Amino acid sequence: MFPPGPIQPGTQVRLCDHDPDFCGGYRKGDREARRQRAEDLQAMCDLQERLYAEGKQSLLIILQGLDTAGKDGTIRHVLRGLDVQGCAVTSFKVPTAEELAHDFLWRVHPHVPAAGQIAVFNRSHYEDVLVVRVHGLAPESVWRRRYDQINAFEELLAASGTRILKFFLHISQEEQKRRLEKRLATPAKQWKISAHDLPERRLWDDYLAAYEEALSRCSTAVAPWYVIPANHKWYRNLAVAHVIARTLREMDPQWPPPQVDLSQVVIE
Ligand code: ADP
Repeated sequence: MFPPGPIQPGTQVRLCDHDPDFCGGYRKGDREARRQRAEDLQAMCDLQERLYAEGKQSLLIILQGLDTAGKDGTIRHVLRGLDVQGCAVTSFKVPTAEELAHDFLWRVHPHVPAAGQIAVFNRSHYEDVLVVRVHGLAPESVWRRRYDQINAFEELLAASGTRILKFFLHISQEEQKRRLEKRLATPAKQWKISAHDLPERRLWDDYLAAYEEALSRCSTAVAPWYVIPANHKWYRNLAVAHVIARTLREMDPQWPPPQVDLSQVVIE
């Protein structure tokens, strides 16, 4: 459906029910889709300025997806109009020894957005119930507790004035194959190929199962998950931009009142 709706809390998510080719009834290049996207990107810019000036609320955007799902592309296309002073992107990689010596949220917390700011996570604390689960990097008794711990963490952020949006960029296995082949054949993309991409592909079903549980258990009223059909990049960008713009409209940040009596101000 366009506009995309959140996963309702308590829903058992089955990704096979979500078509990664879905385009919301639009076709590529549709005038209406282009108009919608332009309107949403403009709204994001305008509302970000107000969010920054207001300095009371913040927005955290989490992007997750299998390799080549388009996390980097979404950041480039959807967020390019934002003022960099009010926006930070953090990419979460394999944890360092120091990070591993702490609880799994330790490395995440410093990057959540301050009041007035938008923060984007390229991967996130969800890796600790995804790659960690699929590769058995921690015992099940440890990662299983993390769903509740994540929900508690996100609730704390929400109670502190942070709106949270979580996007799962959903591509098909065939589309991933096409994208990996294109990477291999494109010099400007070859640097993105990592040794683990191909073995990871064989774990597709395990990843989908891990995602299904994360989406089912951690889509909450204060931190909803959205499954974004992502086989078509233009639709992915349209859908993500729309949800972000809609959320900023709901947050309705206000210009702060002037700090001085304007009637007394004389500019000489
Ligand atoms: P990306 O694929 O995001 O563009 P990389 O190729 O550097 O960037 O991949 C980052 C890697 O870090 C991914 O394989 C991801 O699974 C891994 N990673 C992220 N968080 C964790 C974590 N908590 N534990 C183990 N691996 C992690």
